[in-house]
Amino acid sequence: MPVYTLPELPYDYSALAPVISPEIIELHHDKHHAAYVKGANDTLEQLAEARDKESWGAVNGLEKNLAFHLSGHILHSIYWQNMTGDGGGEPLAADGVGELADAIAESFGSFAGFKAQLSKAAATTQGSGWGVLAYEPLSGRLIVEQVYDHQGNVGQGATPILVFDAWEHAFYLQYRNQKVDFIEAMWAVVNWQDVARRYAAAKSRTDVLLLAP
Ligand code: MN
Repeated sequence: MPVYTLPELPYDYSALAPVISPEIIELHHDKHHAAYVKGANDTLEQLAEARDKESWGAVNGLEKNLAFHLSGHILHSIYWQNMTGDGGGEPLAADGVGELADAIAESFGSFAGFKAQLSKAAATTQGSGWGVLAYEPLSGRLIVEQVYDHQGNVGQGATPILVFDAWEHAFYLQYRNQKVDFIEAMWAVVNWQDVARRYAAAKSRTDVLLLAP
């Protein structure tokens, strides 16, 4: 039994068009995301084998692979849920996502400031990476992270609640080298209901990091 499994898309391949083409969604989910799931499962097996044989020569590389594939699986699982063909705009109290709207305003000064920061963080990734909105439990604030690959440059303990994939496979077939245009278009498919749900859940499980001695 594999530990990790590929989640089904919550919509069909064409649901996010014209922002993201069906061809990109199909390849991205069925090939790229699937490869991270397989990679995480394979690496866990290789680590089990290393323990059985007490053969630790490859442990450094295996731990790196685990971080890469597992983080890829987690971020993509969030990514699909973060998007909807009925999305976009900004979170509003009238839509039942007022707590998220308030948290963004408190943490970034304004929605416009937050949007600009996340857009820039995603668009200026060097090589492969992500722009991520995360809940940081020590401060109780939202922060933006610019993630390298899937796992680098993150603050420990922060929970991603809105993720923009800035790897070339996320946009190149449609946007070619215009990463800035892709990131700008992404805002039209953000599912604020899903982001708000993740914000509430992240806030409610902070005690694990705040344990008193
Ligand atoms: Mn991706």
